Amino acid sequence: MVGSEGEVMTQTFENYVDGEWRASETGETFEVVNPSDTTEVVAECQQSSEADANGAIEAAAAARDAWKNTPGPDRGAFLRTTAKKMDERRDELAETLSREEGKTLSEATGETGRAVDIFYYYAERAMDYAGESYNPSAQGQNLYTVREPMGVAGLITPWNYPIAIPAWKMAPALATGNTVVCKLSKEAPTVYLKVMECMAEAAEEHDVPDGVVNVLTGSGEEVGQPIVTHDEVDAVSFTGSRQVGDMIYEQATDAHKRIQTELGSKNPTVVTENADVEQAADIVSGGAFGVTGQACTATERVIVHESVEEEFVDALVERAENTEIGHGVEDPGMGPKASESELENTLDYFQTAEDEGATIEYGGDEPDGEEYEDGYFVQPTVVSGLDSDATVMQEEVFGPFAGVMTYSEIDEAIELANDVEYGLAASIVTDDHSQANRFVDEIDFGIVKVNEATTGLELHVPFGGMNASSSETYREQGEEGMDYFTIIKTVYDS
Ligand code: NAD
Repeated sequence: MVGSEGEVMTQTFENYVDGEWRASETGETFEVVNPSDTTEVVAECQQSSEADANGAIEAAAAARDAWKNTPGPDRGAFLRTTAKKMDERRDELAETLSREEGKTLSEATGETGRAVDIFYYYAERAMDYAGESYNPSAQGQNLYTVREPMGVAGLITPWNYPIAIPAWKMAPALATGNTVVCKLSKEAPTVYLKVMECMAEAAEEHDVPDGVVNVLTGSGEEVGQPIVTHDEVDAVSFTGSRQVGDMIYEQATDAHKRIQTELGSKNPTVVTENADVEQAADIVSGGAFGVTGQACTATERVIVHESVEEEFVDALVERAENTEIGHGVEDPGMGPKASESELENTLDYFQTAEDEGATIEYGGDEPDGEEYEDGYFVQPTVVSGLDSDATVMQEEVFGPFAGVMTYSEIDEAIELANDVEYGLAASIVTDDHSQANRFVDEIDFGIVKVNEATTGLELHVPFGGMNASSSETYREQGEEGMDYFTIIKTVYDS
């Protein structure tokens, strides 16, 4: 935004509650800065309070029956108009995402396109998603199920996919007739507040009742906690860290609430003796360094057959060396970490790797150069020589990090791949179909890939992890993403 004197003005965003834009009762805002250049303030957002969150939950509860009783096709029409408006603002949304979170413009454009597609997908699914008919047990009887909305859905989202994740929770929740209260991350809330602008216009055009969609910004303690604990919230969907996720899972289950948590991981790729090493290095560098390693599906453990280790490490290091680090909007090969604490965390892990005796094959530090001084940049990093139980081989680094280990027999490779508490995404690069099949059978991860990176997902198929990565009962995305937000009622009608 440009002011009357030509100076660039920072836009202030309000919360969207009960059908209107509303400032927090605290009167306070916080700054969202560009992690590529922290002198740039991207936006100011509301430092909301528990009272703001409670107001949004009460608005959502008041709208519950009206939205439940709105036919599926009408809900779909609202989502379709939202998608169209997002589509028209696609470039602006992608640039905002890149500025506030640091993703390269290409990555931000990809994520924005995904969010648009998610809204289109659930707009269509809102029309045909329903219960099932069963053979009657007596003549003249109708025996069927209906899928009723849970009621008020509380959505708590992280910073690392700040447009796609709120979209993939909100669109299925709304499509199935739930009202929503969504808490955005503090690091990167602006892009979704712009999506909310699209939704607010679409809501007006489709006479969507006030209170159906509510979006707030603020801290986890002030705004996230009431969403988990408030009596009027019926289902909670959380994506974020294991630490917070495990805590709120307990709180929600104690309160007999439905809860879904999608958490961190420590994802392996196995490279077998007959793999094409160049292809394997492309797959691993994409999985490890893409989005600066800040994906829950990022590759962090690389388990390489001992006969190809040297060749593979050389090829991976070459890709790390050739990764152009830069400001997200200039669309380099890799953007910065998203925040100062995220940068420090990653650098601490690099130091720990060294302290525990790793060979640093490449990186391990911040990059040199004036252009990096005002941002949270870090080098893509390849280490080797650590055992499976080393700290950086077990804990989620959440940065551009690949830890290489070796194996001699496929049994050992699978054992190493499973040797973590997490279980979100695992992959194998191989030319041997029987090894691939064994891997698929024996790996304890929710997503398994053959000759693909651990990263990347399709919006129409189930997504979720095993073990410490997810609460295992529900999956996100696709039709399963809708099942989570509904409860089955079985009808016997004679
Ligand atoms: P985080 O847990 O710090 O925050 C996630 C959200 O929870 C934020 O909106 C935060 O404000 C809120 N929150 C914090 N404390 C809370 C509390 N006490 N009560 C309620 N809400 C609270 O996570 P993050 O740093 O934003 O995200 C990174 C993490 O997310 C990584 O571990 C990553 O692996 C994980 N992640 C998982 C998936 C998946 O689908 N499995 C996808 C993306 C990210």
